[in-house]
Amino acid sequence: MTPVDALERVVHCLDRAHDTGFKAKAFVRALEVVRALPPNELVARSAAGTLTELDGIGDSSATVIQQALAGGVVAYLAALDAKTQVPLSPAGAVYRAALRGDLHLHSRWSDGGATIEAMARTAIALGHEYMVLTDHSPRLTIAHGLSAERLAQQLADVAMLNEQLAPFRVLTGIEVDILEDGTLDHGDAILSRLDVVVASVHNKLRMGGSEMTERMVRAIANPNVDILGHCTGRLLGKREPSLFDPDYVFAACSQFHTAVEINCRPERLDPPRPLLQMAIEYGCFFAINSDAHATGQLEWQPHGCDRAAEVGVPLDRVLNSWPVDELLAWTADQ
Ligand SMILES: [Zn+2]
Ligand SMILES: [Zn+2]
Repeated sequence: MTPVDALERVVHCLDRAHDTGFKAKAFVRALEVVRALPPNELVARSAAGTLTELDGIGDSSATVIQQALAGGVVAYLAALDAKTQVPLSPAGAVYRAALRGDLHLHSRWSDGGATIEAMARTAIALGHEYMVLTDHSPRLTIAHGLSAERLAQQLADVAMLNEQLAPFRVLTGIEVDILEDGTLDHGDAILSRLDVVVASVHNKLRMGGSEMTERMVRAIANPNVDILGHCTGRLLGKREPSLFDPDYVFAACSQFHTAVEINCRPERLDPPRPLLQMAIEYGCFFAINSDAHATGQLEWQPHGCDRAAEVGVPLDRVLNSWPVDELLAWTADQ
């Protein structure tokens, strides 16, 4: 394991533990420093004990680098790896074992922290056969949402990457914003080119319940929309769920074949259990999605798997447990 490998793995483990504090930022910085440094200098400084003289290398990162260069076990990493395993119940494990992919994740093209390739290689290591790249749409300027031009560039990059990563598949997609009137932040010509479209509400989450219901149903009914992302928009301990009539929303999801996302981000865990139960009763399909913005966050699917098991989501209605061809046939038809 090279120092870069070791530091990348440390960052990955901190990501999956949802650690966004000082320590995590320091390791990200250390990784940047080490990547930019000539390997000879790294070895020389490690031997001389002068790593910490480099701006951005602290005691912990210096220890990781030294242990990686020594070729043995990187003790700091081993302990962190053990401590940050994502818990999974035995019932949830049945769902996790059935998952073949992840249908909602971000890269550096929008507000993610990793390249498409890094996300794909992590997905492969997690046993996935495919992933859908769903960076943000232009309205979300804060997240560097993709214009039509940038999306076209991304599709070209994805095509090249797919040649390298086969048989793994990076499917094309987007997390498109549901605008205030229920229209979407890209037109049909663009959306119909993509394999999978996730549509989510990201702004004006506090509008009245009947307006929000109309807004969501209009998006759900759009034939290009395949998945309704994090439907209530809640952030645990920070933001209450949006108000909408779940009978209309889930009936529309069922009617128009738009799957309900089970969002696995620990601060979201959306939808809440009672709504998930209703969606099951309406005959909806589901997608257990990490909504990862970093490689470590791709490991969050167990959160949604546990939830799916708790409320009894029928496994055959979970889109990302299907082989890729079945998934693509479903998203193309519906
Ligand atoms: Zn979102
Ligand atoms: Zn997202």
